[in-house]
Amino acid sequence: MVKICSRCKQNIEKCKCEVPVYTAFYRDGLMKELTEDYKYQSIRGLDKILAEMLDIALPKDFGEAVIVPLPTAPKHIRERGFDHTLRLAKALAKRREAFSFCQVLYRNKNTVQVGANAKTRKKQAKEAYLVKSGAIDANRTYLLIDDVWTTGASMESAIDLMKKAGAKYLAAAVILTAKK
Ligand SMILES: [Zn+2]
Repeated sequence: MVKICSRCKQNIEKCKCEVPVYTAFYRDGLMKELTEDYKYQSIRGLDKILAEMLDIALPKDFGEAVIVPLPTAPKHIRERGFDHTLRLAKALAKRREAFSFCQVLYRNKNTVQVGANAKTRKKQAKEAYLVKSGAIDANRTYLLIDDVWTTGASMESAIDLMKKAGAKYLAAAVILTAKK
């Protein structure tokens, strides 16, 4: 386990990011295979193992948090027969007493990132999500969940939206991060 922040690529202990992105592994080897099997082969039972990896990557004393999955494109949910990020977030929420689950973010429209170039991805990511109105409680901590950090565009746009909607205490966690 690497225990770095995906944003600054520093050891999570040294991360100075306003919103740290807790990261369990680099995207290679067995963990890459497991994460991809879960998502692309629809091996739903891997949710608990992957959630455990997120749990280990997070500080034990993280405290109370609302677990928020990054919304999956409807097209991908249809293709795979399940929403992999939603399931992962729910599995993580079950692991700690102090965690709860809420789908605060939802999909703006059917935008798909795969195959688009970096510039298009960034633009699409900005427009991809919306925050449910009235869903943010400024006193609570929100922990955004995704499986993989690639360019970070999706997570950065989600962080931006949450902040604009009034969230003051924010963090994020992903299983895998791309090496620079
Ligand atoms: Zn950082």
